[in-house]
Parts: sequence; structure tokens; C-alpha cells
Amino acid sequence: MEINKKHSSIKTVNPFTNEVEKEFEIMSNEQVDRIIDKADHAFKTWRNTSFDERAKVIHKVASIMRERKEDLGRLATIEMGKLLRESIYEVELSADIFDYFADNAGKFLADRPLETEKGEAFLSYQPIGILLSVQPWNFPFYQITRSAASALMAGNTMILKHASNVPQCAQIMEDIFEEAGLPDGVYNNIFIPGSQIERLVDNPKIKAVALTGSEAAGGSIASAAGKNVKKSTLELGGSDPFVVLEDADIDKAVETAVNGRMWNAGQVCVSPKRIIVPESKVKEFTEKSKALTTRLKVGNPLETDTDIAPLSSEKAAQDVAAQIQKAIDQGAKLELGGKRIDRPGAFLEPTILTSVTPSMDAYFEEIFGPVLVIYSYKNIDDAIELANATEFGLGGTVFGTDIEKAKAVARKIDTGMVYINHVTGIAPELPFGGTKRSG
Ligand code: NAP
Repeated sequence: MEINKKHSSIKTVNPFTNEVEKEFEIMSNEQVDRIIDKADHAFKTWRNTSFDERAKVIHKVASIMRERKEDLGRLATIEMGKLLRESIYEVELSADIFDYFADNAGKFLADRPLETEKGEAFLSYQPIGILLSVQPWNFPFYQITRSAASALMAGNTMILKHASNVPQCAQIMEDIFEEAGLPDGVYNNIFIPGSQIERLVDNPKIKAVALTGSEAAGGSIASAAGKNVKKSTLELGGSDPFVVLEDADIDKAVETAVNGRMWNAGQVCVSPKRIIVPESKVKEFTEKSKALTTRLKVGNPLETDTDIAPLSSEKAAQDVAAQIQKAIDQGAKLELGGKRIDRPGAFLEPTILTSVTPSMDAYFEEIFGPVLVIYSYKNIDDAIELANATEFGLGGTVFGTDIEKAKAVARKIDTGMVYINHVTGIAPELPFGGTKRSG
């Protein structure tokens, strides 16, 4: 499937160099249909396997990933640019998630007795067939894991359509499943662009579709699923608030907000994108954020002393630079950075903006890059209003010393998850998801 020919949209372009490293041929409709048939056929057997049989394979996937975490991490870094240490952490986290579902799926999906006077009744969980999983590039292994671990343990089969810029991560996961002993057809990778997905949603053999990505892709998948009366789940964008309370330790808040925002070069759905600080502390917070951000080293993501990686692609860097420029043109104050870096690769200066108001697009848009936007508030009601002034509702943070007070503020934020004194985090045993336009 690997090719030399240029112009395929499925390819690795290393964002550190902007050089094409590998290209893959787009699959034809006939090839994709054969894969769907294979997954449908495999479901007939896989659905009848026991949880123990499935767990054996899924634990093996986890152990292969741990053994090869350096190689896998390097692949993610080369394909989408994140720091190698972040890539390796992602592989370890993914292995933990596979283990967690292998250990617990049988318990989660056990029959649930229902109390009734009419006789014996219980709720039984059954697999439904092929799940189509459409995933983004920002966590190339974790995003596969999050849908595959639970769906495969539940007895479903899966077709993965990964983002077109991480084909090698997509391919290697299919290889790892095979090596771990997963029967042929249970997990299948396909190489097609997102624009061709709707045809698959129309196929009656596909029983459900899960998408993580942008609102535009979510809307298109949701309408295709709706038209076919098919189940769908959407995990979309976010513009998480980070509310600093009056009693917060400012140094810790600055460190958490800046490091959280610069993680994965700011390309995280649950990154703290809007920092909301008391008026009395905003000057100190901004100055300390600038000082800390200035010390971060931008460079080669494979080197251990690099703090800020390139963005995932040249287009991503251009798009974020344009969003920053538009915010400045509309009246935002540029406190730091804001420009492309004069070197090869998809680099952008880590940026801090203030004075963003509701008359500017940046107030409402998700900025998917290393851009900290700092707002100030007069009283806690203003802070909550600002935190909720977004169409998104994925994660959020409240930072303060009095934990009960922080929890009370957290309850008023209209979002899927709120963390206290921590950026929105991820752990195998914690649910993940949003409200409003975040899916
Ligand atoms: P994207 O363009 O929507 O791409 C995501 C996936 O959807 C890719 O596999 C893409 O394929 C596919 N796709 C694109 N257009 C499609 C369409 N019309 N129909 C069906 N599939 C389509 O997303 P992105 O901009 O690269 O990713 C960043 C976004 O994802 C951000 O908004 C971020 O917040 C969000 N995100 C959310 C979560 C969460 O859990 N809520 C997690 C991570 C990221 P191609 O690559 O072939 O275009």
C-alpha cells in the first residue's frame, strides 16, 4: 500500500522539516467495501468469544505497546510533531487504557438484574457489529485506544479511519493488533480522506460511528448518521476556561496554566484556552506568564531539552498565525510572540494575548495552537459568566486554595469535566466528554 507517487493526501509530512517522509495510496471503494465485509464476517465469531479470550489479546496489545514505547513515540513525533516525551507518555497511557478495559469490561457489561414483581428480568449488554471510528491526529495512539479498547472488549469489530497526516501510526496499530493475536477482520485500518466517510456511514453493515475532531466534521458525520438512523458519538472542540480564584497561589497557577497550554504545542481539545484571573492579580499573572513562556525552548521535538514543538502541519501553523493576527487587528493586545519563527518547519512563537473582547472572533473561536489568552474579572459572578461565554463545553479548571469554594465554582461552569488545581486530565478510569457544541 505504501507508494512513491506524489500528491496522495495520506502521507507523513514531518512538521519539524516540512518534508514528506512516506505516502500511502488512497483505497478504492472496492477495497474499502471488502474490508467492511471482512469486519462484518469477523463479528459473527468475535461476538461469541468470552471476555477472558478478548482480554488476553487486549493485554497483549498493551504489553507490545509498552515494550516498543520509544519506537512508537518516535513515530508519533515524526508524523505530527509533538515532543518525544509527550509521545512516549501517550503510548504508556494508551497501554494503561487497554489494560483497564481488558480487566474491567466483563464487570461493566455483566447482566444487571432488574427488580420487578413480574418474574425474572435483567438487562443484558450485547455487541452491535462494526463500529466506524474516525479520529484526529493530535493524540495518534490515544485516540485509537479510547474507541478500540472498549468497543473490541464489548465484542464489536472496528474500522478505523485515522487522520490523513498520521498514516504510519494508523498502520502500526493494525500490525500490533495482528501480532497480539486478534483474529483477522476484527480491527481494520482504512486509508481514505475524511471527505469520503459519508459513503461508509450509509453502509448498513456499519452499525455505529464515533468521531473525534472538528465541529465541521462532527456536523457532517451526525447528519449522515441521522439520515441512516444510526448511532453516533461526537467528541468535538473545546475552549476550556481556567478560573483563578482570589485565594490561588499565583505562581502555581501560572505554571499550571502555561505548561498546560503549551502541552502538545497547544493542540489539545482540553487545553486551558481562556485564563480568567481576578482584576487585582491580572497584571502579576500576565507578567509571570510572559517570564515563564519566554524561558521555554522551541526546537526539535526529538531532543529532550525542547519545551515547545512545531505545530502538526504547515497549514496548522499558518491558520493559528492568521487567527492571532485577526485578533490583533480587531484590537486584542499582543503581550508576547504572535509570529511564525524564521526556521524550517511548522513553528509558531508561543503567544500571549490580553484585552480580547466579545467583539472579536478570538473570544468565541477555539485556537488550536500555543496561545494563552488572559481575561480579567471583577467578581466571581463575572468569572463564571466569562467561563460560560462559549459554545463549547469540554473541560475546565478552577484554581484556588479553599477546595470547597473551588468546587462550588466548578459546579456552576457549564462543561463536561472540571478539575481543581489541575488542567483537564485523562486517566483510564475517568470518563471523558463534553456538553454544548463539544459533542
Ligand atoms: P478534523 O479535520 O475534523 O479531523 C478529524 C478526523 O475527521 C480526521 O480523521 C479527518 O480526516 C476526519 N474528517 C475531516 N472532515 C470530515 C468529514 N467531513 N466527514 C468525516 N470525517 C471527516 O479535525 P482536526 O481539525 O484535524 O482536529 C482538531 C479538532 O479535534 C479540534 O477542534 C479539537 O478540539 C478536536 N478534538 C476533540 C477531542 C475530544 O475528545 N473532544 C479530542 C481531540 C481533538 P482527514 O484527516 O482525512 O481530513
